[in-house]
Amino acid sequence: MFEVIFLGTGSMKPTQKRFTTSFVLRHEGESILFDAGEGVQVRLSQSGLSPNKISKIFISHFHGDHFYGIPGLIFSMSHGERTKKLTIYGPKKTREFIEKLLSVGYSNLKFPVEVIELKNGERIEEETYTITAFSVEHGPPALGYLFKEKDTKNIDSKKMKKHKLTPNKKFRELKNGKEIEIDGLKMKPEDWLVDTPGDSLVYSGDTIPCDNTTLAAKAVTVLIHESTYLDGETQEDRGHSTSLDAAKLAKKAKAKNLILTHFSPRYLDTKPLLESAKTVFPNTYLSKDLKGFVIKRGELVV
Ligand SMILES: [Zn+2]
Ligand SMILES: [Zn+2]
Repeated sequence: MFEVIFLGTGSMKPTQKRFTTSFVLRHEGESILFDAGEGVQVRLSQSGLSPNKISKIFISHFHGDHFYGIPGLIFSMSHGERTKKLTIYGPKKTREFIEKLLSVGYSNLKFPVEVIELKNGERIEEETYTITAFSVEHGPPALGYLFKEKDTKNIDSKKMKKHKLTPNKKFRELKNGKEIEIDGLKMKPEDWLVDTPGDSLVYSGDTIPCDNTTLAAKAVTVLIHESTYLDGETQEDRGHSTSLDAAKLAKKAKAKNLILTHFSPRYLDTKPLLESAKTVFPNTYLSKDLKGFVIKRGELVV
């Protein structure tokens, strides 16, 4: 289970209604930030999320609408009580950007900042999840990310009902592979544990519809895809997708849900983008600044 809270859902520049692109993924007490457009600190504060809880930042690419919020965010963290390491991941130039930022800012940070540049296919492995970077097609070096919860072992709820069992502290031992006994009932891990598949999320970053995103989004629980324009209104601007493009890709990848984001400032009302996408992929939702989604056991809860 994890939660996604959108902090900015616009492209190019902040508007009255939308800040530029950023969202937080919360998983087991950890907050992971994907992109950090201008104003990210304001939205974090409005959403009640502490910047000090952010352990990792993933930058998709170096267009201002995806990273101009980072300087302010880092320097705010340095004024707080933070001592915990912050790791910043991104494409080529991430190291150069952070080193320059920290060298000219008289920052005197009280916490370490680690920078890891990622290439297509590189994966970060944590205890309960993995995050894989993949190259997308936008112009400058740009990455998308696949977040995947690891499968977990859980106690068979049908069996529990059958034996009229209620939650018990000893279940933790069972999950750790030990045999337990409750009221004379001997319970072996191999008889009682079932696999619960983890949920997954793909963030496209900025891109035209591309094979790498389709591949990463295969059967994903939720695909967050950029949707800068309405079908037929792309003009000469290449390197971006329409909401219809995003929907077609979601369908092709057999994603379970699609959330549209990164809207052009020209759209005060994004409903037409949603309607267009829904003609191809009904499980489509609109992101909105400060809107949250819960992703649990294959379902998306708005
Ligand atoms: Zn952008
Ligand atoms: Zn861009």
